[in-house]
Amino acid sequence: MSTIADNIAQVAARIRAAEQAAQRAEHSVRLLAVSKTKPSDAVREAYAAGVHDFGENYLQEALGKQLELADLPLIWHFIGPIQSNKTRAIAENFAWVHSVDRLKIAQRLSEQRPAELPPLNICIQVNVSGEASKSGCTPADLPALASAISALPRLKLRGLMAIPEPTEDRAAQDAAFATVQKLQASLNLPLDTLSMGMSHDLESAIAMGATWVRIGTALFGARDYQQTHGQP
Ligand SMILES: *Cc1c(COP(=O)(O)O)cnc(C)c1O
Repeated sequence: MSTIADNIAQVAARIRAAEQAAQRAEHSVRLLAVSKTKPSDAVREAYAAGVHDFGENYLQEALGKQLELADLPLIWHFIGPIQSNKTRAIAENFAWVHSVDRLKIAQRLSEQRPAELPPLNICIQVNVSGEASKSGCTPADLPALASAISALPRLKLRGLMAIPEPTEDRAAQDAAFATVQKLQASLNLPLDTLSMGMSHDLESAIAMGATWVRIGTALFGARDYQQTHGQP
């Protein structure tokens, strides 16, 4: 087994154990492999080991990999900060966007989603760590943003995404993810997705209702930002 296939098996076992601990159905949590800064060959290896969904943060890097991997039926998710001049390429080349945090970006994605593609799946990124994070809408702004986005014709609002402040303290992880779950429930919209949990906190996220866990390091190893594009 390759290292990546080995890592995938280990992460799948962690996900299954966390599903069981939370008395959740098998496969109710899906694995999004975060391939940012990693070469196409690593994606190919993960695909060969059974992973189909890949998350990228940087548009140019993602477009390059999509070209190199066009022979594979991969599902691409955009998970990074979005500038308005990038929305057209995102609307044209991804199936999901997890990091929408303002209406202007959502409106552009809806207008620019090609007619021949299905609606773009959207998660609203919500900031549950206050000033520790610059990305994500505030919990106070969430209800109005969610209702405006659910009215946009070429988007399908699926749920919320969050990146809580990193901590190894399980109780603090649980509290942050529980906040996201409660915010989602308070919206009273037909949402089926909670995108939360990374390599270090996936067990807590799954206990609190995650449906996508976004895993990079535990699958592909540590990232070297210098080598690929020189920005974090
Ligand atoms: C990089 C990244 C991840 C993966 O984090 P790991 O700790 O490497 O698992 C998940 N989500 C987002 C939004 C990221 O930018």
